[in-house]
Amino acid sequence: MPDTEPLIEEADPFDIAPVRLTVDLTALAENWVELSKRSGRARTGAVVKADAYGLGIEDCGLTLYEAGARDFFVAAASEGATLRAYAPDARIFVLSGIWPGQERLFLEHDLVPVLASEEQMTHWMSLIAEVGAYPCAVQVDTGFNRLGLSFDDAMALAQDVSRPTSFDPVLLLSHLHTADAADAEATRNQLDLFQQVSSAFEGVESSLSASAGIFLGPRYHFDLTRPGIALYGGKASLAMERPLRTVATAEARIVQIRDAKAGETVSYGGTHRLLRDSRLAVASVGYADGYMRSLSGSGVPLRNGTAGGAAAAFGGYKLPVLGRITMDLTVFDATDLPSGALRTGDYVELVGPNMPLDDVAEAGGTIGYELLTGFGLRYERRYTGDEV
Ligand SMILES: *Cc1c(COP(=O)(O)O)cnc(C)c1O
Repeated sequence: MPDTEPLIEEADPFDIAPVRLTVDLTALAENWVELSKRSGRARTGAVVKADAYGLGIEDCGLTLYEAGARDFFVAAASEGATLRAYAPDARIFVLSGIWPGQERLFLEHDLVPVLASEEQMTHWMSLIAEVGAYPCAVQVDTGFNRLGLSFDDAMALAQDVSRPTSFDPVLLLSHLHTADAADAEATRNQLDLFQQVSSAFEGVESSLSASAGIFLGPRYHFDLTRPGIALYGGKASLAMERPLRTVATAEARIVQIRDAKAGETVSYGGTHRLLRDSRLAVASVGYADGYMRSLSGSGVPLRNGTAGGAAAAFGGYKLPVLGRITMDLTVFDATDLPSGALRTGDYVELVGPNMPLDDVAEAGGTIGYELLTGFGLRYERRYTGDEV
């Protein structure tokens, strides 16, 4: 046999992907358990909307189910239908409610709509008149001005003796708008209004707090909490000393390393002029991968004047982004690394244990939620760890 290298090799897609995402399911399960402790006597749910904040609703949903979650929240009914296979006897709430034409989807997958407007309520009442009792949840707006029945409409509904007997709300919920700031007056007002609605709907469970609200203490816990971002390792609140365990690690592959001279410029617009002879590492990640243009090292009009841009981590070093991030490629400054330490084909960490999600988000003028949910389809995903 000739001992030449075969021209066509098979590689694990994860080892050669331009961008890849590792999701630590053990950390996810541990974060749920920790939030469950912090939720005191309340049950702890799990918010898995937007494909579990970009990390994959199937694997994350199953892990959270096995960790003990039995109350799940999704934004869209289609997400609930997907989740059902992984959380067979859980309650799955659909935060956007139900719209005419979706009835079969709800019934088939046993989804609970969160009714959030007068219109939806009217549709719901005529529906249950036809199909009989079916569980629903009611969202009440206590000051967010986003979704929900008004306080007055909710109180009227609670006291309406003519409402159909088949009307069967199993959960009353509201959402805090400033729970991440400690003890704001607006938050106490929302609590006060929600307590009134909650007492008016006697015997119906109540839920007020998402991740941040859990850290406001027992008065905010009611019967069920609804953490999202904290499960996935994001910092939800100033009251959290630090985020829980890191769940997501995003990496990009180095496709070229090049030397450039002081005085030359880097990337579109030539907005970064090199101050020293430099070694540049070009990575296959760009704004089409959710590595947003606002994370650029320079040349982003909206961020002019502020300190610059994101960085990637490699071997204990930080590699700042140089110039503008482009659609599929980003240039990092590898000049400070020992010669030969970083090579073509290596992966640099964009977000993960060495490059905290919230720090990167802040460098781009946004929040961890947006960065996480923006990691798109090009990421090769790997799940590690056992479900607890
Ligand atoms: C997204 C969402 C949550 C979860 O919020 P986090 O801040 O991610 O914990 C909870 N409740 C509602 C109504 C939501 O829309």
